[in-house]
Amino acid sequence: MEHIPSAAEMLGWIETVVGQGIRRPGYPADAWTEQWLAERLSGFGLEVTLEPVEVRRWRPGAGLLRLDDGTSWTGLPLPFTAPAKSLRGRIARLADARPGDIVVDELTFTELPQSYVKTLATSAYDPEGSFGTLVQTLPFGPRMMEVVEPALAAGAAAFVGALTGLPWDTRDYYVPYDAIERPIPGLWLSGTDARQLLARLPCEGELIAESAVDTVITHNVVATLPGGSPHTVIVASHHDAPWASAVEDASGLALVLATARHWARVPAAERPHNLTFLLTSGHMAHAAGTRAFIDRHRPELADVVLQLHLEHAALRCEAVDGKLVPTADPEVRWWFTTRAPQLERLVATTLEAEDLRRSFVLPPDVFSPMPPTDGAFFHPEGVPLVHFLSAPMYLFDSADTIDKVDVAGLEPLARAAVRIVAGTAGWTPDELRITP
Ligand SMILES: [Zn+2]
Repeated sequence: MEHIPSAAEMLGWIETVVGQGIRRPGYPADAWTEQWLAERLSGFGLEVTLEPVEVRRWRPGAGLLRLDDGTSWTGLPLPFTAPAKSLRGRIARLADARPGDIVVDELTFTELPQSYVKTLATSAYDPEGSFGTLVQTLPFGPRMMEVVEPALAAGAAAFVGALTGLPWDTRDYYVPYDAIERPIPGLWLSGTDARQLLARLPCEGELIAESAVDTVITHNVVATLPGGSPHTVIVASHHDAPWASAVEDASGLALVLATARHWARVPAAERPHNLTFLLTSGHMAHAAGTRAFIDRHRPELADVVLQLHLEHAALRCEAVDGKLVPTADPEVRWWFTTRAPQLERLVATTLEAEDLRRSFVLPPDVFSPMPPTDGAFFHPEGVPLVHFLSAPMYLFDSADTIDKVDVAGLEPLARAAVRIVAGTAGWTPDELRITP
């Protein structure tokens, strides 16, 4: 594995991508990243194609809640909610809401005990024995992306999301990202601001939540290397992001680039299968890039031995005085793996070989019908998959900065990706495909 880049080199790639700014689907930094990825991959010797993907681009403007007593707080308009230049009305908690109100609802992130996840896992690699007591704060509340729906059901004219139950103070929560255009305006307020608001409710005021939506063409970056079988392994991540995000998923891009460079330097006959490296667009628009890739390549999916997704080399953070502080530990690593025994064994032995502690091997549908990954839509197609993902609480926030990247994990994760690809030598899609 002498061809795996050093952690410093991978971190350099992550810094380059993060340095371009906010990479939401269709933003200039995302278009720049597409070109940069294509140049890196051609430079490694791969055949590169840019495949067009139509996405809905959402750009927020001013976000403000102003009470009639003059108090006001700035906030982030919720992605893909209706714009409002000025909406006046009664502001009330969800429990006290009348139809037509500006409804305030509090959000608390879900705490997930790892002792419970262990009961759902196919296997675990946890040499420290941390899973007995560790509790992970997920970047979602119990309703996942359906944060506006209770207010909609109550007949609200607008939604104000009070981020009072987050371990740190932020208004930059880029959720929902299913690109569903909800019919009322929405605004996230930080926990500190929202607590001041809640103390004054009910009252009268004005909501401003400006945004613009249009349709633009982005690209999946698709790079190929010929190999020693008629079948294909697809290694993937996504190039768009909620912010200038380092973990989500500049870190995944670095892992895919590292894996591509390794296999480019190995003679074609030593590659176990044809290899496709896929960097999708539009993850933050309901995985538009993955869906477009599947639509375009559906006849070829029967030849796919494995689809390996690499997302989020993340450090676990703790909240100290309302601020996020990275620890030295990785966030819990999920390895969603199709329930083919030889594939589950390959992943389990790889985790041990690369000492990827705090890892779970999980069935792809353990949390929801599809895995919560950018590659989710491969699962209902019956494509055998291994999806690595960790879900730190800051995943959708502007706090996802370089200091959150699990730098010590980059080389072992890249080596694990290479091992898993190599481990499929001699396998055929038919022996791994499970009808979901
Ligand atoms: Zn991601």
